[in-house]
Amino acid sequence: MIKQDSIILKLIAKEKIRQEEGLELIASENFVSAQIAAATGSILTNKYAEGLPGKRYYGGCHIVDEVESLAIERAKALFNVDWVNVQPHSGSQANAALMMGVLKPGDKILGFNLAHGGHLTHGSPVNFSGKLYQSFFYGVNRETGRVEWEEVAQKARRLQPVMMICGASAYSRDWDYVRLRAIADEIGAFLWADIAHPAGLISQGLLNNPFPHCHFVTTTTHKTLRGPRGGMILMGKDFNNPFGKTNAKGMVQRMSTLLDAAVFPGTQGGPLVHSIAAKAIACYEAMTSNYKAYAIQVQKNATVMAQALMDKGYKIISDGTDNHLLLLDLSSKNISGKKAEAALQKAAITTNKNLIPFDRTTPQITSGIRLGTAAITTRGLVASDMLLVVEWIDRVLKNIENESKIKKVKEEVNKYMSHFPLTMVDHSN
Ligand SMILES: *Cc1c(COP(=O)(O)O)cnc(C)c1O
Repeated sequence: MIKQDSIILKLIAKEKIRQEEGLELIASENFVSAQIAAATGSILTNKYAEGLPGKRYYGGCHIVDEVESLAIERAKALFNVDWVNVQPHSGSQANAALMMGVLKPGDKILGFNLAHGGHLTHGSPVNFSGKLYQSFFYGVNRETGRVEWEEVAQKARRLQPVMMICGASAYSRDWDYVRLRAIADEIGAFLWADIAHPAGLISQGLLNNPFPHCHFVTTTTHKTLRGPRGGMILMGKDFNNPFGKTNAKGMVQRMSTLLDAAVFPGTQGGPLVHSIAAKAIACYEAMTSNYKAYAIQVQKNATVMAQALMDKGYKIISDGTDNHLLLLDLSSKNISGKKAEAALQKAAITTNKNLIPFDRTTPQITSGIRLGTAAITTRGLVASDMLLVVEWIDRVLKNIENESKIKKVKEEVNKYMSHFPLTMVDHSN
């Protein structure tokens, strides 16, 4: 009998209380269902299954073959696509494999500026993507806070990248995939959409659909999609996906061989079968009417939250949101993102400091915070609750030096959230 590791078990119990009592506004987080948590914590973690279903390098894979095949079939059905690899351990791993499969070291890539809301894996110099590839960036327009497609087109024509990347971590507006594809076709580049954040909303048709237009799509499974921590690579329907005007048919199939090999053995070893099982459940849950209602509410809550903040005189980058997140610009309030994050945390409101476009500070300080509604909507908060949430945020930021007023907000947050217990979060119908 192995003795229990009481130290770690106690820390898990403590973290559960933190999650339960607090208001989770980190845009990339969510709360999984009991069955997803069970799969993630299951004995499937014991199994080695290098390779793909039916083509493994280990024995005893006949059951996990069924698990992975189900995950693949469900992901294909959810997004209506022809091909998916469900093995990437995370969003970054999915991106690494994709780039490994499509690009040669030294190739030019054109992505969305990290300092404007892009992701590290889209060419940042501190990331493999910026070290292996020659990376260039487009950003948002200073006045509109939006990506202006003509500016992207001009950069693309001048730089002639092998791959154009769209998608972001802190951008509240939708993407014009039709326009981006036209630019990519004009210069003969691949177009890749990283939908790590809005995947859940896209799966429900609430945002533009990248699949008919982008050659490749990567995603995480743990943000709005509300599955386990992990990633996927996908390609749309073959007939929609002409890699060049001629010889389109069968291209997805050919590229899929390349991409499967880029995941394993290219960048990963044994897949996390427990996570793959949980991804299968997440896709199953995302095809229910319950999830559809959830995704609609996430988007509505974000719209209401943005409006309520603007009504109180706060500046939101691009003056609103199309998706589940918003970027609060605190530069005119003379509060750094770092300070705001710390004060809000004292009130059990969890956010993250975030650079705003053209920020004059550093990534450690920042002039903004990013807020998202995916997690609190899972807890059961609706549009009317967003007014209360904004009221709390406003009280903390207005009383940033006043410990007792912040403590009072914390008590109210804790009491309110006790009406939405985490254990009752069940999205299985
Ligand atoms: C979150 C995110 C990722 C990376 O996901 P990890 O699972 O943290 O590696 C990649 N791309 C974008 C745009 C993201 O927002």
